[in-house]
This record gives sequence, C-alpha cells and structure tokens, in this order.
Amino acid sequence: MIDFTLSERDRAQLERTRAAALICRKYARYHDENEGDFPPDELPEAAEFYANQTPLPDASDDDTAPPVMMALQSIGQFWGDYSVRLKRTGGGGLGNAALSAAGTPEQQEKWQHLVLSMAITEPGCGSDPSRVSTTAVLDGDEWVLNGEKIFVTTGIRAEGVVLWATIDKSAGRAGIKSFLVEKGTPGFEVPHKEKKLGIRADDTACYVFKDCRIPRENLLGLDETIPKKSSGGFRGVMKTFNMTRPMTAAMGLGLAKAALDFTRDELEKAGVELEYGSALGAQSAVAERFMRLEALYEASELTTLQCTWMAGQGLPNNMESSVCKAHAGSAVRAITQGCVELLGPMGISREHLLEKWMRDCRITDIYEGTGEIQRLIIARGLFDYTRADLK
Ligand SMILES: Cc1cc2nc3c(=O)[nH]c(=O)nc-3n(C[C@H](O)[C@H](O)[C@H](O)COP(=O)(O)OP(=O)(O)OC[C@H]3O[C@@H](n4cnc5c(N)ncnc54)[C@H](O)[C@@H]3O)c2cc1C
Repeated sequence: MIDFTLSERDRAQLERTRAAALICRKYARYHDENEGDFPPDELPEAAEFYANQTPLPDASDDDTAPPVMMALQSIGQFWGDYSVRLKRTGGGGLGNAALSAAGTPEQQEKWQHLVLSMAITEPGCGSDPSRVSTTAVLDGDEWVLNGEKIFVTTGIRAEGVVLWATIDKSAGRAGIKSFLVEKGTPGFEVPHKEKKLGIRADDTACYVFKDCRIPRENLLGLDETIPKKSSGGFRGVMKTFNMTRPMTAAMGLGLAKAALDFTRDELEKAGVELEYGSALGAQSAVAERFMRLEALYEASELTTLQCTWMAGQGLPNNMESSVCKAHAGSAVRAITQGCVELLGPMGISREHLLEKWMRDCRITDIYEGTGEIQRLIIARGLFDYTRADLK
C-alpha cells in the first residue's frame, strides 16, 4: 500500500527546505527584473543559515523513499522561488540526470561534478526528438559535431552539455546518440541568450557547433561500434525523463502551492470564510472556487508522489511520469490563473509575487515534453497504440 506519512526526519528536512525557500523568495523579484543577472552560487544568508541548523533526527525505517522525498523537497524549494537557491552545489542540470541514466561509471566519475545542460531541441526539432539534425561524424579518434541547439536551460551557467546528435540520419532514432561536450571546446559557441516570459533567473541559451571536435570516448554509454546496445542512444537517454518529468511536475506544484498559500491568506484577511468540512454548496462563491483549486492541487500532488513512489519501488513508471507531468502542467496553470482572478488587481500587481508565479509556471507544460506529447504517451501506454498509430 502506498503510504505518504512523513517520519520525524522527513518533517524536519522539509521544514529546513521551506526555511531556505523563504530566504530565496526575498531575491525572486530582483532576478525576475534583472534577467541577465543570474543568482550567485551562494546567497549572503547561506553561511549563517547552515551554521544555525540543528542536526536532523537519525534515519529510520519509517523514512520516506528518496524519490518521493525528492519530489516533496522540490515542491518546498520551488514554493520559495523557481530558480533562486540558497546555495548551489555541484551539478543539478538536466544533463547531469542524463549522464546518470546513460553514462558508463567511468564517464559519470569524470563529468558528474560539472553543471551539465542538455541540448536536444533544434530550430526544426522539438516535440519529435527523432528529427535531430545535428551531426556527429567519426574522424579518426574524434567526433566532429555540426549543428544548432535552441532553448538550452542553464545553457550559460553550465560547464558542459549532453548533446543529442545523429551519427547516421538514415537510421532514424537508432542513429541518435548523446555526447558530452565541455565548454571551451573549440567550435562550441554560445551566441544567444533568450529573454523569457517567466523563470527569468534561469538562463536559457542557444548553442552552435561548427566543426567541433571531441574525443571518441565522449559518446555517452558503450562505444558506437555496437550502436543498438549503446545506453547513450535514444532509448537510454529517454529513460532520464521517467524521473525528470515528475520532478518538473513537482517544480510547478511548488509555485502553485505558493499561489494558493498567498491567496488563502489574502482571502482570509478580506473576511472570506473557508469552511473546510462543509459541503461546497454551503460555501461562498469565492470560497468554493478557491477550494476547487486546492482540490486540483491535491490531485496533482498525489499523482506526482505516486509516480515517484513507483520509481522508489523499482516499478516501471513511464506512463505515470507522463500522467503526472500532463496533469500538473494544466493544473498549475489553472491554479495560478484562478488565484490571480480571485484576488483581482492584487493578483496582477508587481507588488506581490503572484503574477510572477503565474508566468513562471507556464513552463511546466512545455519542456520535458508538452502536455499534448504526454497525452500521446499516455494513450500509447493505456491502449497499446504504436508510435505510428498516433503520428
Ligand atoms: C524556457 C525553456 C527551456 C527549455 N529547456 C530545454 C532544454 O534544456 N533542453 C532542450 O533540449 N529543450 C529545452 N526546451 C525546449 C522544449 O523542450 C520544447 O520547446 C518542447 O519540447 C516543444 O518543442 P517545440 O518548441 O519545438 O514545439 P513544437 O514541437 O513545434 O510543438 C508546437 C505545438 O504543437 C504541439 N504538438 C507537436 N507535436 C504534436 C503531436 N504529434 N500531436 C499533438 N500536438 C503536437 C505541441 O504540444 C506544441 O503545443 C526548453 C523550452 C523552453 C521554452
């Protein structure tokens, strides 16, 4: 049976996450308005915060499984701000997750300490990654890379990238491999940074590869001489998404929770009574609408936790990761927009963060596969449709 009861240690950990998130929130507006000025690796309050921490209770058998805790901590962290962190440690980019999923133990040891972005999307390839047209051609002991990548999250801050390129266009998906390219490699340029609607404290860049040469061993996974079994191939790296999709859902849920908490406080200050336990029909129209948003949040959070719980049990969660991502993608938009509407002018004022949370959460339904693409994956999982059936 799934049980999300938190142990004493879990609760202490989440309280710590929330306390750190509140500090980060103080910097949220600054980074939203100064898009080019990225958060420092350590906020001024970080040292004092960590020095004043009491030790966590000892680990016990009752502790929540690590993937579930990761999701809960993401919700707590993003409740503070989408991108600002008290202290940034080590990797943490999407490329790091790809390296964990597809790299050999030697490759992981060599590069996991770097911040790694992940570059799949190209001007002509987004939802259908099998259309990647960046090429990798073996020349002696080196791969020669040519192509363009767009919308690379953390593209500026990253120290390297996990890059998708094809070694044989005629082979379709089987020809697509992932490569580790370190910043500073000749032929690897970062010509452009995006200006965005939301998540502005996170940089998003464009990459160009012009006759960029990397060592042969930078192909992730096994060697390319047995391409179909290479874990760095299409299937190997797609596995990354089974964990990153619920985390993306959790990130959006953190914002939605922040919006709900703010709105609840403001409604209560305005004298709106939320009578939990009474029927929805017995509530005022405002209270009823707000409670429906809360219910939507709970459904989405539970769907996400179920998916991470399955990961913790070693159960296949490909379809569930799409279910929670698709659900959260639309739920967090409905929740934040609903909160903005409930609070009227206060909802869109830059005096408060609610309008920013509404902008920030839009990404939940775009990257890591749009809502429409998640629904295609779900349909395949539920009804045994093939990729060709749903083209
Ligand atoms: C801020 C930001 C950060 C990003 N970070 C990264 C990153 O780090 N790395 C990376 O590789 N990419 C990243 N992306 C790219 C993101 O993954 C793509 O934008 C996304 O996959 C959609 O691709 P696209 O923009 O090319 O849209 P398209 O694929 O052109 O789709 C356009 C619309 O058509 C819909 N659609 C497409 N195909 C179908 C279909 N078969 N059935 C029904 N509807 C369909 C889509 O849902 C969408 O609404 C980022 C994007 C943004 C905005």
